[in-house]
Amino acid sequence: MNIKDLNFCVIGGGIGGLAAALALRQAGGKVTVLEQAAELTEVGAGLQISANGMCVLRALGVVGDVPARGQISYGTILRDYRAGRIISRVPPPEAGETYYYHRADLLGLLHDAARQAGVDIRLNAQVATVNKHPSEAEIVLRSGECLRTECAIAADGGRSAIRPILNGTETPVFTHQIAWRATVPVTQTSEKPCASLTMGPGRHVVTYPLREQSLMNVVAIEERSDWTEEGWRRRGDPEDLRARFADFGGPVGEILARVDEAHLWALFLRPVAQSWQNGRLALLGDAAHPTLPFMAQGACLALEDAWVLQRAFAEQSGIGSALAAYEAARRPRAVQVVAAAGANARKFHLRGPMRLAAQGVLSVVGPRLARKYDWIYDFDPTV
Ligand SMILES: Cc1cc2nc3c(=O)[nH]c(=O)nc-3n(C[C@H](O)[C@H](O)[C@H](O)COP(=O)(O)OP(=O)(O)OC[C@H]3O[C@@H](n4cnc5c(N)ncnc54)[C@H](O)[C@@H]3O)c2cc1C
Repeated sequence: MNIKDLNFCVIGGGIGGLAAALALRQAGGKVTVLEQAAELTEVGAGLQISANGMCVLRALGVVGDVPARGQISYGTILRDYRAGRIISRVPPPEAGETYYYHRADLLGLLHDAARQAGVDIRLNAQVATVNKHPSEAEIVLRSGECLRTECAIAADGGRSAIRPILNGTETPVFTHQIAWRATVPVTQTSEKPCASLTMGPGRHVVTYPLREQSLMNVVAIEERSDWTEEGWRRRGDPEDLRARFADFGGPVGEILARVDEAHLWALFLRPVAQSWQNGRLALLGDAAHPTLPFMAQGACLALEDAWVLQRAFAEQSGIGSALAAYEAARRPRAVQVVAAAGANARKFHLRGPMRLAAQGVLSVVGPRLARKYDWIYDFDPTV
């Protein structure tokens, strides 16, 4: 289908929305992004982008062969929590390089590329609903303004207000997992940049370097039954973080000691959406498939979605068939990856004898662990 001059509205200017907008614009579409926030920002925190996401960033021209602002990964060190004893070293996946990004940097790269390509990005534009008409979608903003578009893409995140239009009301379920996120300045090191996954009973901490190893990204996950706040995220107290991970020693204990600002994310989930599109409106990214972060794949999946959506338009003859082909291509993979992330939640937080037994196994199979997930990293939607 020639999408030249076809009008698209993308709801949400996160990683998924901006990547989709750029991909559709590069294919010739006229694209407007509607973002509710007053500016495109991300709270300081990192993202791991594995080969399956990197190939999309390269194909979109967002990064070159040597990606700017990314920090190449030399694998992951698995540690026990008490003294930080190394259990195993997991080499990088053979499928290709993983890069560590500061979220704000990746968002900035996507934003600049989208603007340069001619995407119209509107801020302070919160979408209330989308109505389907025979030949177009009507987008209603909270301000009361109505926009008409031939195709709407909802990339409005895990709390998508648009998803219920296609799937009815589904209350997000609190997973009893809380993510603390912080970045800590570090002095330059000559060590090769690696992630570190430190596992303890009911908790784990992931750290990896950002911005030429000048910052250390910290994600500390704890199981918790209580979350009384309405919101999903709020500022956290670093002393509370330290108290909750007080028995984590070794390198991660030293890093936690230097956290002076932290944010808390309560991890709520909805299942992978049953219905992704209605012929005029489609879901993309977390709106379609929110995931626990334990495979570091949410943003990677959103990048894959963006590319496959654009290709579906190139290969199909109409908007309805393009959106149906996109859903058929993406849903099975999203279900598989989300399930793999959920399984890791249990493995990372084992207690007592189970934890010791699992560590024994990991010390043997650790070097081959990345191969287990080849099916995730090997996938290149751009070929
Ligand atoms: C602790 C943690 C660590 C993670 N680590 C990784 C990792 O290492 N690698 C990885 O690949 N993924 C990771 N993820 C997942 C990743 O952050 C998400 O999957 C990704 O950001 C989803 O992008 P998105 O564009 O779909 O949604 P979002 O990033 O949530 O963006 C949605 C956008 O839509 C806007 N919006 C919402 N509602 C409206 C509306 N009604 N109108 C207009 N705009 C609206 C929002 O303001 C926002 O800008 C992690 C997640 C967490 C919680």
